[in-house]
Amino acid sequence: MNRILVVVDMQNDFIDGSLGTPEARAIVERVANKVGGYQLSGGTVVYTADTHGEDYLNTQEGRNLPVEHCIKGTQGWQIACAVKGLNQTNVYEKTTFGSKELAESLASIHKNVNEIDEVELVGLCTDICVISNALLIKAFLPEVKITVDASCCAGVTPESHRNALQAMKACQINVIGE
Ligand SMILES: [Zn+2]
Repeated sequence: MNRILVVVDMQNDFIDGSLGTPEARAIVERVANKVGGYQLSGGTVVYTADTHGEDYLNTQEGRNLPVEHCIKGTQGWQIACAVKGLNQTNVYEKTTFGSKELAESLASIHKNVNEIDEVELVGLCTDICVISNALLIKAFLPEVKITVDASCCAGVTPESHRNALQAMKACQINVIGE
């Protein structure tokens, strides 16, 4: 079984930094356990990292959300130590919600290297970057099972978390852990 875990934006700013929430802090240990499980069973773990520059406030995202976060090189930009696991090399930095580079890389692995059985996503925030990456990966891998573990995700609010899970189910994402 070739299973790939995508850990979305588990960065300090989204946990206990400028955009942190109690719900995000509550999933850290579960995500760490999930990462450990994949590593023990020989699965692959990759990470996305929201990555902005000093010009953040002048970007479209910055105009809509004028809270500086994940500025490259800062402590807030770092992936939380607890979820880093053993392999820290598979990090896809992205300037917007979904990582096209990650989706393309998974499609290339699937086609050229080792057919992927399942891609599972966990992380932050359910209603922004988890849903964006889940749908983007589904577009690149329409015949691969895409799973989201709700117990290892948190939204901007609990309500937006639940709404995003419903939207993903409508798009045939396999939602577990509710
Ligand atoms: Zn951002």
